[in-house]
Amino acid sequence: MTFASLGLIEPLLRSLETLGYQTPTPVQAQAIPAVLAGRDLMAAAQTGTGKTAGFALPLLQLLTMEGPKVTANSARALILVPTRELAEQVHEAVRQYAENLPLRTYAVYGGVSINPQMMKLRGGVDVLVATPGRLIDLFRQNALKLDQLQTLVLDEADRMLDLGFSEELANIYRMLPKKRQTLLFSATFSDDIRLLAGQMLNDPLSVEVSPRNVAANTVKQWIVTVDKKRKAELFVHLMRKNKWKQVLVFAKTRNGVDALVEKLQGLGVNADGIHGDKPQATRQRALDRFKLSEVQILVATDVAARGLDIEDLPLVVNFDLPIVAEDYIHRIGRTGRAGATGEAISLVCADEVNMLSAIEMLTRQTLKRQNEPDFEPEHRVPDTDASGQVVKKPKKPKKPKTSGGGGKRNLGKWVESGESQTPEPSIKPVRKVPVFNTGPRKRKP
Ligand code: AMP
Repeated sequence: MTFASLGLIEPLLRSLETLGYQTPTPVQAQAIPAVLAGRDLMAAAQTGTGKTAGFALPLLQLLTMEGPKVTANSARALILVPTRELAEQVHEAVRQYAENLPLRTYAVYGGVSINPQMMKLRGGVDVLVATPGRLIDLFRQNALKLDQLQTLVLDEADRMLDLGFSEELANIYRMLPKKRQTLLFSATFSDDIRLLAGQMLNDPLSVEVSPRNVAANTVKQWIVTVDKKRKAELFVHLMRKNKWKQVLVFAKTRNGVDALVEKLQGLGVNADGIHGDKPQATRQRALDRFKLSEVQILVATDVAARGLDIEDLPLVVNFDLPIVAEDYIHRIGRTGRAGATGEAISLVCADEVNMLSAIEMLTRQTLKRQNEPDFEPEHRVPDTDASGQVVKKPKKPKKPKTSGGGGKRNLGKWVESGESQTPEPSIKPVRKVPVFNTGPRKRKP
């Protein structure tokens, strides 16, 4: 199959030739004709399998062939994405695909000055890539009108539809014309989100090119069990032992990112961090330098979990497991992209057993465990499997004896570890159905 046989016009075919795309990926083969035919779409395909071109190419073609010329302060197509870095990346891809077309493209997102964005929008843009918050600001300040909008794309659609963005999305929906084409793309869709998405679309076509909610099969995954307090030490040990060259590391919190970066930099390791508290320019620079291999270890919160395309990234490490099981699939999907192979290692402590179980259940696999000599945990991580059962309960710590040396030592270790003695609440592998306009705003990662 060729891109020409999917009905793409010659200027797009020329761009693809320049980019070296020879054959459509499965999601492209299914999505492109459907979008060209004007259908609404819900498309699920594994991470790194060319979803961006799957919606961008037919979208650009429709904008070229159909509809009136864009007027001042208007946009004809809107691509919503969850993070600023992804907005830059998706826009860059769209810009390259549109190289030979008479279309204007642009990206807007928060964390940077709004004035240049308002100026740019004055002339109107055909394709606007945006994060929701900044889009709403621009709309409210009359810098953007959406009545000319033909197509709405939600990239990382399940993330866009979940609780964290539901209020913003509901606001945006009110700003859009009722008659439009809507396209949802993601690597994961929980059943609840699927249901909600189905209600938003008009006679949608469902494109599913792989089993539901699976990680790219080009990524080799395993876990190393370890005590929480020794995770940083284990990370440094593995990094040195395996001579890791380029690693994307995910930590749960902003503080966790800063602490690990500080530790690594203190050891002379070329490391940097990305999280929501950092200025946008710093975030983007750290990512760009990592993509250029000028930074060896990039530590990030889940702000980097979605969509980022880092060429030939060999390894993702989950320093902490993600709280939401779907995010595991997205995180490890930063490696093994475009047919390349990759590895994903998770450092798992006893506290995280419920998260591990949720991930295994969602991805229908039991993750291989590998013990690292000298790092075997004192607090054993109970066995888990893909059924979602935590197979064995963790061994109870011995009751401290009130007298006698051995007991005292045990008590000391248990208390010193700083680990919670109450188990984590059980974590469901799916998010709750968001109710538009209600619910607390989830903190951005
Ligand atoms: P995406 O999943 O859209 O982020 O794409 C993943 C990577 O695959 C990107 O680096 C794309 O440039 C690349 N890519 C997408 N489609 C193709 C194709 N048909 N042939 C070769 N590379 C592709």
